[in-house]
Amino acid sequence: MPQSISFIGLGIMGQPMALNLVKAGFPVTVFNRTRRKAEPLERAGARVASSPAEVARDADVIISIVSDTAAMEEVVCGKDGILEAIRSGAVLIDSSTISPTVSRRLACQLAAKGASMLDAPVTGSKHGAEKGELTFMIGGEREVMERVLPVLKVLGKRHIYCGEHGLGLAAKLAMNCILATTVEIFSEGFVLATKAGVPPETLLEIMQSSLARAAIVDFKAPFVFKGDFTPYFPLKLMHKDLELAMEAAYAQNVPMPATAAVKEVYAGAKAQGQGDRDYAAVITFLEELAGIQVRVAPAP
Ligand code: NAP
Repeated sequence: MPQSISFIGLGIMGQPMALNLVKAGFPVTVFNRTRRKAEPLERAGARVASSPAEVARDADVIISIVSDTAAMEEVVCGKDGILEAIRSGAVLIDSSTISPTVSRRLACQLAAKGASMLDAPVTGSKHGAEKGELTFMIGGEREVMERVLPVLKVLGKRHIYCGEHGLGLAAKLAMNCILATTVEIFSEGFVLATKAGVPPETLLEIMQSSLARAAIVDFKAPFVFKGDFTPYFPLKLMHKDLELAMEAAYAQNVPMPATAAVKEVYAGAKAQGQGDRDYAAVITFLEELAGIQVRVAPAP
């Protein structure tokens, strides 16, 4: 079992993930750019560091989950970054969804210091992080993954090896294209039916008894019907993932016409100020254009 674990990024996902490691009895040191968000971890028994370099200095395993590619580059290569202090033999597990190309470069920079990196993006959202039931998609050396599995098993119930560096992220981007498109087309269909006069809960019942049923729609529909867009996965981050997917598609000469169109619907919602709400708020952009809201009055 690794002696010490460090955790960087205590946002929606990182906060409960780090807490689960503390609860599992690991000695955990945490860093968050905004220090205040580290207080619940400190109360739970974690040590709080003041820079990525400080958390990296004594760690056997470092886990990071920050917003985007620029944030991860800053955490690794910036002033007081991980690269300045990481020990030979240590492993950086990055669960952020970032550019696979940049992730591969960071893995090379860490290898030059004798350290290893896995790209290990996750799915399962906030509730999966809280329950320790995330699914990890892992790229890098299989032997390194096996070495850190005792840590990853505290955070998730499935750890799927995808291949060399960057392929965990390649799988994650493909998956988020499917999720984003499903939620957008669900929104279009529900706006259309509601404007025609079909109650939203009736259309949901029909969908749930048809082959169009989708777990993500079952999960999001009750929130949409209440107009509750508390972020589980912020819309601006889903838009970022669609952008990353389109970059990968360009680099690989893969046409993705539906994803390209859906990305612009998320861009529209973000431009309207919905970026910090859950990505299901993409429906509000379509609702405004159609002049109708997909809501269900609470039962009396
Ligand atoms: P979040 O709540 O917005 O948290 C983002 C974290 O990144 C915060 O700790 C933030 O620090 C940190 N950060 C941002 N810029 C930074 C910088 N320049 N230097 C250092 N730290 C920086 O996001 P989240 O929902 O936890 O998502 C984190 C990552 O996981 C993203 O890549 C996302 O795509 C991915 N993901 C999210 C979900 C989900 O359902 N939420 C699911 C799967 C994957 P501050 O507190 O200082 O802002």
